[in-house]
Amino acid sequence: MSDQSELDRKYLLSHDSFNCPFCNRRSVVYEVVDNFLFDWSEERKCYGYIIKCSGCGNRSFHLSYYNWICSYGNGRYLNPFRSEPQNFPDEEEYQIEHLDKYFFYHHPTSFFTIDDRIPKIIRELIAEADGCRKMNWLIGASGALRKGIYKFLKDQNVPHVKDDKGGSLSYEEQIKWLKNKHTLVAGEYFDALSNIQDMVSEELHEDKDWEPWTREEFDYLIATVKAVLHEIYVLPEERKGMLTRVLQLGVGKKVK
Ligand SMILES: [Zn+2]
Repeated sequence: MSDQSELDRKYLLSHDSFNCPFCNRRSVVYEVVDNFLFDWSEERKCYGYIIKCSGCGNRSFHLSYYNWICSYGNGRYLNPFRSEPQNFPDEEEYQIEHLDKYFFYHHPTSFFTIDDRIPKIIRELIAEADGCRKMNWLIGASGALRKGIYKFLKDQNVPHVKDDKGGSLSYEEQIKWLKNKHTLVAGEYFDALSNIQDMVSEELHEDKDWEPWTREEFDYLIATVKAVLHEIYVLPEERKGMLTRVLQLGVGKKVK
């Protein structure tokens, strides 16, 4: 079961099958229909590949520093990712089962790589944050992650006011409220979230004067946010599924 969910989180599964971000079909056949080259910088070349889903016909866009030879025959490209790219380091082993790691950007971003039991709006923002981070766009990455945190608080129905008198709850107090709500989740995660600087009580009041996080801060925070989302939206469902399966095994059986 865990093998399957790992596959579901990948974008490209092999030289000719992928999880389509448009029709959401898993393991659907794709075809590389176009490719191009541009200079990312003076020193670095970047290779782009357009992939077409055989299910829905939509085309997605993928960038890599690797140059696969795209030869054309019988009216189509011949699965270029089947063999290693031309500029692949000799000392490394080409791992087609981990094709995703040879790409640094996809559009649409692979938001399905985040468990779909997490609300879509949050998933999309986390995927966006991940995508920006891969490109080293830390302002975009920080902005998307901050927004994701606000959407998460909203989805959890975190109150904005303390009491009838209308005193407002600060961001830290909101996180504390969540910590008390989810007592099964390790408190350290919430403490980490609570320590984020410049967060405000509501997304509406988010002004643009915050500092983007450094790479290290961002990596730590996104890992924390993903862990919290997993604990809150995914694990309880998995436990329920497990319980149902166990109970079904026991139907009609008497245990001595
Ligand atoms: Zn598709």
